[in-house]
Amino acid sequence: MTDPMTEREGQPHDALAKAAATAPATPYAQPEPAARDHVPMEKPVFELRDVSVAYGGTPAVKGIDLDVEANRITALIGPSGCGKSTVLRCLNRMNDLVADATVAGRVLYHGQDIYASHVDPVEVRKLVGMVFQKPNPFPKSIYDNIAFGPRVLGMKGSMDEIVERALRRAALWDEVKDRLKQSAYGMSGGQQQRLCIARALATDPDVILMDEPCSALDPISTARIEDLLLELRRSYAIVIVTHNMQQAARVSDRTAFFTVELDEGERHRTGRIVEFDATEKIFQNPADPRTEAYVTGKVG
Ligand code: ADP
Repeated sequence: MTDPMTEREGQPHDALAKAAATAPATPYAQPEPAARDHVPMEKPVFELRDVSVAYGGTPAVKGIDLDVEANRITALIGPSGCGKSTVLRCLNRMNDLVADATVAGRVLYHGQDIYASHVDPVEVRKLVGMVFQKPNPFPKSIYDNIAFGPRVLGMKGSMDEIVERALRRAALWDEVKDRLKQSAYGMSGGQQQRLCIARALATDPDVILMDEPCSALDPISTARIEDLLLELRRSYAIVIVTHNMQQAARVSDRTAFFTVELDEGERHRTGRIVEFDATEKIFQNPADPRTEAYVTGKVG
């Protein structure tokens, strides 16, 4: 029987989509949480090499090397202002929408540079979905929120099926199937955030980016989103920015710890990755004393 979680629809219609579609099949058997130490897998979905981002010429992050793997949750942690969201936004070219932002270095998605001149950022954002801190449904019905992206992209197939599949994947279908035509604003905050996740899933991405997706939610809604992340990991690569270290420890497989350093001239504070490793290692036996000080709460 086909597993709906692993179904992929739509025709690859450019080089990026083809690269994603022809990437090695991902294993769906999951390691137990206790055994989530890093096991090298196929080529990473994303490879960032010496990436730096500046706003108005002022560097915000420098020298970022990061791999993002399929079927893994990668957490970005570190104090506020160290560049976690900036790096996250590099992965789907959202920094293009920030005036004065410049990105240097290589951001390879299935081996292709998403900043190459021929790459359409809209296509990148179809394949690399994003969920924000505050649930931000459109002022439309639940159905139309999900159908929005597929309609804009002209996705083929039954829209009803696309909407149902996205809502099922986001563990929301049973709660909303009888009120699909009602406004998304009538949903609870936690439901709205799962709707935003469903909306990101509707365009059939293979990566989901999440920028502090639970920070506006109560503990019960947060737990539901965390359960959902572990479920979605079976089919997607997930990158999550979180200020909640317990959350990073609970859900992620790999963690990158960022900090802010004064540059050589000591004029600018620039974000850098101190350590990137298996989450267990980062939290239990970090290599760098700065990581240890942060994860044990000695500095924040
Ligand atoms: P974090 O997600 O770790 O809190 P950010 O990526 O938001 O960090 O910010 C990193 C640095 O970049 C900060 O110094 C911040 O002020 C700066 N920055 C972020 N977004 C912008 C922007 N749109 N314009 C100018 N500077 C920005």
